[in-house]
Amino acid sequence: MRDPRYDLLFEPVRIGPVTTKNRFFQVPHCNGMGHAMPLAHAAMREVKAEGGWGVISTEECEIHPSSDLTPYVEARLWDDRDIPALALMCDKVHAHGALAALELSHNGPTASNLYSREVLLAPSHQPSKYGYPAQARAMDLHDIAEYRRWHREAAVRGMKAGMDIIYVYAAHDLSLPMHFLQRRRNQRSDAYGGSLENRIRLLREVLQDTREAVGHRCAVALRFATEELLGPGGVELAEAQDIVGMLAELPDLWDVNLAAWYNDSVPSRFAREGAQEPFIDFVRKATTKPVVGVGRFTSPDTMVSQIRRGVIDLIGAARPSIADPYLPRKIEEGRVDDIRECIGCNICVSGDMTISPIRCTQNPSMGEEWRKGWHPERIAPKASDARVLVVGGGPAGLEAARALGQRGYEVHLAEARRELGGRVTREARLPGLAEWARVRDWRLGQIGKLANVSTYLDSALTAQDVLDFGADHVVIATGCYWRRDGFGRSHGLGIADFADNARVFTPDDLMDGRWPEGRVVVYDDDYFYTASVVAEALRLRGCEVTYLTPDDTIASWSANTLDYRHIQWRMAELGVVQRVSHLVTGYTGTTLALEHAWSGAASSLDCDAVVAVTARLPDDALYQALKARETEWADAGIRSVACIGDALAPGLIAHAVYAGHRYAQELDARRDGEVPFKRHFHHDTPMA
Ligand code: ADP
Ligand code: SF4
Repeated sequence: MRDPRYDLLFEPVRIGPVTTKNRFFQVPHCNGMGHAMPLAHAAMREVKAEGGWGVISTEECEIHPSSDLTPYVEARLWDDRDIPALALMCDKVHAHGALAALELSHNGPTASNLYSREVLLAPSHQPSKYGYPAQARAMDLHDIAEYRRWHREAAVRGMKAGMDIIYVYAAHDLSLPMHFLQRRRNQRSDAYGGSLENRIRLLREVLQDTREAVGHRCAVALRFATEELLGPGGVELAEAQDIVGMLAELPDLWDVNLAAWYNDSVPSRFAREGAQEPFIDFVRKATTKPVVGVGRFTSPDTMVSQIRRGVIDLIGAARPSIADPYLPRKIEEGRVDDIRECIGCNICVSGDMTISPIRCTQNPSMGEEWRKGWHPERIAPKASDARVLVVGGGPAGLEAARALGQRGYEVHLAEARRELGGRVTREARLPGLAEWARVRDWRLGQIGKLANVSTYLDSALTAQDVLDFGADHVVIATGCYWRRDGFGRSHGLGIADFADNARVFTPDDLMDGRWPEGRVVVYDDDYFYTASVVAEALRLRGCEVTYLTPDDTIASWSANTLDYRHIQWRMAELGVVQRVSHLVTGYTGTTLALEHAWSGAASSLDCDAVVAVTARLPDDALYQALKARETEWADAGIRSVACIGDALAPGLIAHAVYAGHRYAQELDARRDGEVPFKRHFHHDTPMA
């Protein structure tokens, strides 16, 4: 079944005292569920084990109340009472023949201690990383000894929970052994500061401690950042090469990557598959121990190439395992075309950032495994012989059609345009967003295999068409459009001069091929990615571009997807001028009237055109027309009409995919009560 070219990926690899059955390694990733939702967390990890990953890791695991990450919800092993929650995960992972790995972490000055109210710890006195108005205190030798004890005890607890691999964490600028390495965080003059030998002392000791504590049963992994791209204040490649040389054989496994997180999980807009290779490829030459690395790997050919060329031994993945928990199994079963490839949008990251359960654009079941019983591959068969008409072939309509088709319903998908994909197809043509088309492509591939799903292009349906069609259920997924009237968060009454102004464009105009020229202002009252993508596209077409926003910085929400810094760098590189904290009060067609958001001071800006990225409106004319004719539904054989995705309320692509999936899951399903998912109550929680 499997292509022999990929046999290599299914070889077992020995990691100290344990052996992984194959080379697929789900590296640690946060998920917004952690210690607060242990059943949901365990179920999410289990699906990946079922999907063939050889190793399944936790997210960061707090080892002590002095490393409390509140408000972020990660794993926790403060004392023995935390063991059962992680044991749940281990049992489920082991049931599918996978190994469980635990990423122990003490976050020092990058913790918050907002819950525990302990004083933050650090190599030297310094401000806390995340802007909390409190400083971390310098650790004395007693503190260091205590930290080592906490780490040993947490390792033993991990072993008791059933973990097979225990991580020492020195990556992402998030953990004390790394903080001791960094000159900017370590100004000590004792045996733990100064020379490189001194700065790696703690890391060496903790590796030894962990081996002594659990090495007879568990492998000891080192997660190590080889480069922070910060210059001499941070870990730099040359020094990292020395460190790997000095510690080469100490861990059983090297897990290597870039720091901080924004340099590691880089959005696809800013980095391609395998982009970390030049920063990590030296490690394997310096050690006999196996090496795992990441690179948003979704292509088995790239994976094989990385191994054959001696870059890594194990294929590390967080995002590819989130988008497709069954990725290894699909390769094994010769179903490479079925892989649901990660698009690199980092909506998964935004779950952690917004302290909510993980969600994924490509995989709507992510985070819903336990609470809704959704599975990335399986779905209940149809409960009736209903025919379903889906109107609109964007992400919502495509996912609804696919999942309804998988359930066995007779599905008809009508799309007004000559191509499917809706906003995904359109946005993917903008600079840097090409990989987003995978949302469409995977669904088209799956729909193509379903004889019970018919698609009709070039079919703009009217209400009469829908009534004439005679489906039992109708789903309207007709999307949305960008507003031209300036209405947005900062302009509840719109901008009077915008509405009928030929010099005001919207992102839809651009995607339809109508581009402004000359001096263009991109006005962002939306705060996510669109305005910066538009600015980039305009700049690449030779326009002079000013990025104007009422917000105090550009693209502020993109911090939640790790885009923010990359957007800032890209805008600087392209010479896009920024003007923040300014509202538009008028536009003559050649001059914008502005008002400072805080001082109210008036100013002006000459330009030839404005692209308004402010807000969107549902394209729900068809839905409203059908609602108005509700009395005719029964005669037409229609039992229900639903409106989903951007046509109901504009949102992320992830929202549209989720809405399509949810519609398909809930068709003909009985609904109990007002809360459509399970929650964690104390009686559910094993350690209560
Ligand atoms: P969503 O994100 O909710 O899936 P999109 O805007 O991506 O929404 O997709 C909506 C799709 O619906 C577009 O491809 C659009 O061309 C199509 N569409 C809009 N109105 C109609 C209609 N009356 N009949 C058929 N297709 C339509
Ligand atoms: Fe990939 Fe986006 Fe899913 Fe994250 S949310 S796993 S980046 S597709």
